[in-house]
Amino acid sequence: MIIKLKPGLKTGELERFRRALVRLLPGTEFTHTRAFTKVAAPRPQLLSERLAAIENLPGVDTTELSLEEACPLAVTAAPPDLEPLFKRSGCRNFILIAGPCAVEEEKSYLAAAKKLKAAGVQGLRASLFKPRTSPHSFQGLGTGGFRIIKNARRATGLAAVTEATSERQLPAISRVCDMIQIGARNMRNYELLKASAAAGLPVLLKRAPGATLKEWLLSAEYLLKYGNGEVILCERGDSFTKPGKCGLNLNIMRAALNATALPVIADPSHAAGDRALVPAQALAAVRAGADGLMIEASLNPETALVDGRQTLTIPQFIALTKQIKKLGVL
Ligand code: PEP
Ligand code: MN
Repeated sequence: MIIKLKPGLKTGELERFRRALVRLLPGTEFTHTRAFTKVAAPRPQLLSERLAAIENLPGVDTTELSLEEACPLAVTAAPPDLEPLFKRSGCRNFILIAGPCAVEEEKSYLAAAKKLKAAGVQGLRASLFKPRTSPHSFQGLGTGGFRIIKNARRATGLAAVTEATSERQLPAISRVCDMIQIGARNMRNYELLKASAAAGLPVLLKRAPGATLKEWLLSAEYLLKYGNGEVILCERGDSFTKPGKCGLNLNIMRAALNATALPVIADPSHAAGDRALVPAQALAAVRAGADGLMIEASLNPETALVDGRQTLTIPQFIALTKQIKKLGVL
């Protein structure tokens, strides 16, 4: 950590700052200059524990915590073993998750699931609880839909990935599904992160629009601190509402791939907002090194109650997987 000091501090003020710092960070090595103090703490968590107090010391201008210091668990985490979950037949290490935005109706969901499996998908989007901007919009089937997910898992053997929007949903999700999705809106819902981490399933963590790499990895840090270490990061773009405006933030996705060994996948559907724009986004993510993709695809996107505009038809999805194959990851 670098602590930048206010200009023009008197020798007595510098001394007071340095003495206070030693009291806050026992056992720590310091390199002092008149302009800044460099801090090497015995354990990085100590810096986060004391950060607010350090910032509050007289004489302190700004503090800079490196990614390693702020997110020690995320930057040192070993990649989770997803082999048993995703049964990557023929796939290298690439994770391909697809399905409708929400589970809406059993017959077409099961039919889509079978076709997606045949197209090489290993994980099924299986959301029952939808975080919608308007309370008047379709909220998902809720607990009544678990039966459909059970049937889809039985029929296809695919892993079911489902979004949790509340801690209350977690016991049932853990019984029926294979992976918990934390949506972009809930990336900063720290109590939900703690509870999801402890629920015993791997967790897929979306980046919130506008969130920095550090904020995203700090949310992963919650999952790693309170859970079993099986975390997948998912980049999904910087906008909730404007198709064609933002797209995937491949810069942040690439930075996350460089910073952590956790898998980092991309969701081109929510980034694009329009199915015509999804394939280019998906291929760009693969070229940038994504460890996988989560894509909305269903039998009848035109009649979907949610996100139909950005959902690929099954033939469009199959065409996209052929293009992905050409890039050598599938
Ligand atoms: C979703 O994947 O269904 C979803 C709601 O996405 P996001 O949280 O990225 O908006
Ligand atoms: Mn959606």
